[in-house]
Amino acid sequence: MKSLLAAVLISLPALSCAQALLEFTGEHAFPRTTVEAAAERAYTTRLKSLSRDGRLDADHALLLRLRNILEGLGSAARIENPGALAISWEIHTCRRCDETASSMAGGRLLIGEEFVAKFGFTDSELAYLLAHEMAHVLAEHTREFASIARYIVDNGRNRRFEDIQRELDESFTVSLRMSDFYVRQELEADYIGLVLGARSGHDPAAMLGMLTKLHREPAGAFSTHPSEAARIQRASSMLQTAYRIRELGHTQH
Ligand SMILES: [Zn+2]
Repeated sequence: MKSLLAAVLISLPALSCAQALLEFTGEHAFPRTTVEAAAERAYTTRLKSLSRDGRLDADHALLLRLRNILEGLGSAARIENPGALAISWEIHTCRRCDETASSMAGGRLLIGEEFVAKFGFTDSELAYLLAHEMAHVLAEHTREFASIARYIVDNGRNRRFEDIQRELDESFTVSLRMSDFYVRQELEADYIGLVLGARSGHDPAAMLGMLTKLHREPAGAFSTHPSEAARIQRASSMLQTAYRIRELGHTQH
């Protein structure tokens, strides 16, 4: 399997405040436009279905709160990744939709109302949740994931993006074989998310409260996600750096 590290933290000494701290690189087999068009179709279909029976954006206060937090994070994203200038972030909430939080290529986010209510997330915790989802978009994880999956599915090198996506949705074996890479992307999104959140002024330790709350939940019998314990351990080792990044954000204004 090829090693594609989408984001690396560059060295911190001698930083100027408007300098990007993350570097986004990657080789992708499919055009960005193809991946984003597929995401847009899926997102629009899902929103329409939610809207039909009143499950979309029903909690206006929550939606407003999320949009405010997203705006701050969006400014941080533009510093870290100039490509983010072209992203028009979109966020919606849903109820009775079996959703925690998800993002799709091109900047489309969906947050489950019950998930937020259940854990009573603070603004900093929500910032971490959103920053993590934005990180998946910024690092183009869907596109990267499908590019890697071509090496695993039958005749993958000659198949279209939609075919690869179908295999990923339907084949347990393919999903299982991709699980290590999935875990890597999750940890990477945590790491980019922490940088984005700190950059937009959120307290890094307070943000990680989100993971601590999730950690109290019993894990599912089979989960491809990295454990919250592993996520907390990784993110905690970044805390000092995150505080320095937060200071940097403060001197920007
Ligand atoms: Zn994730």
